[in-house]
This record gives sequence, structure tokens and C-alpha cells, in this order.
Amino acid sequence: MSQNKVEYCTSCGIRLEEKGNVKFPCPECGNEVGRCISCRQQGNLYKCPKCGFQGP
Ligand SMILES: [Zn+2]
Ligand SMILES: [Zn+2]
Repeated sequence: MSQNKVEYCTSCGIRLEEKGNVKFPCPECGNEVGRCISCRQQGNLYKCPKCGFQGP
């Protein structure tokens, strides 16, 4: 059984399984937010699925 849980990009919804993805805690609620490398490079907004906080 794999210990890796599948994460999804908060901005575009693709699966995060490649290198270069980032995960960070939401500044509002501390919930973990995932982001793919392409969204990071494009500077897409992310939205916390838990509290709805949006940020660059
Ligand atoms: Zn993305
Ligand atoms: Zn949040």
C-alpha cells in the first residue's frame, strides 16, 4: 500500500504527482493547499478549499 496520498492542485485541479509542485498552509486557516508547477509559474490564484481564502 502506498503511503502517498493523491493531492490536487487547488487552482486547476490536476493531480500533484510530479516534482516541482508546492504545498503550503493556508494563511487564514492553516489547511494544506496544493499547487502545481504550471499554476505557480503563471501566478494563478489559489483558493483554500476549506475557508475560501484566495491568494496569489
Ligand atoms: Zn494547477
Ligand atoms: Zn484556508
